Amino acid sequence: MTTSSSDYLIESLKSEQGLPINTGSQKVHPKRMAGRFRTLKWWTASLWLIFFLGPYLRWNEQQAILLDIPARQFRFFNLAIFPQDVWILTFVLLFFVMLLILLTAVAGRVFCGFFCFQTVWTDLYMWIEERLEGPPRRRQQLDQAPWNAEKLLRKTVKHALWLMIAALTGVSFAAWFTDAHHLWQAYFSLQAHPAAWMVLAMFTAGTYLFAGFMREQVCFWLCPYARIQGVMYGENTALPVYDAQRGEPRQKLGAVKNQTNRGACVDCDLCVAVCPTGIDIRDGQQIGCITCGLCIDACDHVMGKLDQPKGLVSYKSLNSMRTGQGKPFYKTPLAMTAGLSLVALLLIIISSISHISEFSISVYHHRQPEFIKLSDGAIRNRYQLKIQNKTDRAVGYQLSIIGPSEIKNQGRVHFMLEPGEAISRTVLLDALDIAHLAEINAISFRLLNDKGAEKMFQTVFIGPPEKTGGVWDD
Ligand code: SF4
Ligand code: SF4
Repeated sequence: MTTSSSDYLIESLKSEQGLPINTGSQKVHPKRMAGRFRTLKWWTASLWLIFFLGPYLRWNEQQAILLDIPARQFRFFNLAIFPQDVWILTFVLLFFVMLLILLTAVAGRVFCGFFCFQTVWTDLYMWIEERLEGPPRRRQQLDQAPWNAEKLLRKTVKHALWLMIAALTGVSFAAWFTDAHHLWQAYFSLQAHPAAWMVLAMFTAGTYLFAGFMREQVCFWLCPYARIQGVMYGENTALPVYDAQRGEPRQKLGAVKNQTNRGACVDCDLCVAVCPTGIDIRDGQQIGCITCGLCIDACDHVMGKLDQPKGLVSYKSLNSMRTGQGKPFYKTPLAMTAGLSLVALLLIIISSISHISEFSISVYHHRQPEFIKLSDGAIRNRYQLKIQNKTDRAVGYQLSIIGPSEIKNQGRVHFMLEPGEAISRTVLLDALDIAHLAEINAISFRLLNDKGAEKMFQTVFIGPPEKTGGVWDD
């Protein structure tokens, strides 16, 4: 295998610091062991089922959640979000950013270890690999063995399954943006929109490459979050750590020398064998640690077998390592700030969503010119009226204009709008008796829907300047 210049640089650093650095030159085949963090990992990973199954949820005979970009509408059950309400999504995104900051400040890179699509998909791919090629040692042997019918069969089935999952990931992503059932039909009949094919191709290639081949290298060298997480860590951030005081000097089981001065670590390397990023937690916290806790499961298992107290490797903060008792996470400034921001953002989101109305009206008063004089002496103002039905049903509306009695065209108008339909109309208002008309007259456009809900839009009717005594001066 050739060594790149970056590998060369890393190799030099490695020898200076005495730390092994995973540059991907050797494939990591982690051992799979049962334990509480492994169970937790399955539970958190199973949340991704929402991604695969969500698009098939129906509501009122429609797709319950649909990000319909061509119709410029995001639908969440009964709620329809139109471009003018998209600002709410900014708060939703901000909420998740703050949640990530809080999680990192409290427990490090747990998002990576338990929920990130890269680690979840990689874990699933490795599970398939283990079912088909056996435990780590057998997998390594198979990789090195010459090609024969058995190897060809096992590898072909594995890659076919990987590709199927990758393609399903692509279809599932596209299904959030268009009707899921029609999408499948379109793919199978080769009639899908070019954008749908592009999404499928990108996700299939990306998932297959990242989860099948690059694996932990993405966490080490590509992920931007891995680079910035350090600034969110504090002395009270709980991370998987090895208790060197208790564990050292490590010694293999059965070694008789220094029996009186031996640490609890029996140097079985099980904590390294299970690590999905191939690092040795006994060397201290490292950038590649995704805080998945699998090394804790492994070491607890060993300690249990040896009748020793568990926790030689455990989640601990620097403070609790030093003093024996850490500060509760919610008392740290970063966690408090992030926690309060989360509460504030949640309140804003709930309040904004509860105030999204079922229809909208806006009126633009043309100002060039502000008014015109008609041949019969009347004054005319011009308005641009926009009304949108923000529901998924056809709705009847009643529009009326409220203002000084001098202004004509104030009758009621009834009309229907289709689901999501928006109309834009020019409205002309004339005032005949201008002798008593003020220069600026407040008027309102009043819109009622078929349920009696009302919206008012305040604007003005501009009359002749007052200096002319209310009479239009040519
Ligand atoms: S060192 Fe432990 S917690 Fe960190 S990635 Fe490896 S197994 Fe997970
Ligand atoms: S699993 Fe525990 S006992 Fe075994 S090498 Fe790791 S820290 Fe030492």
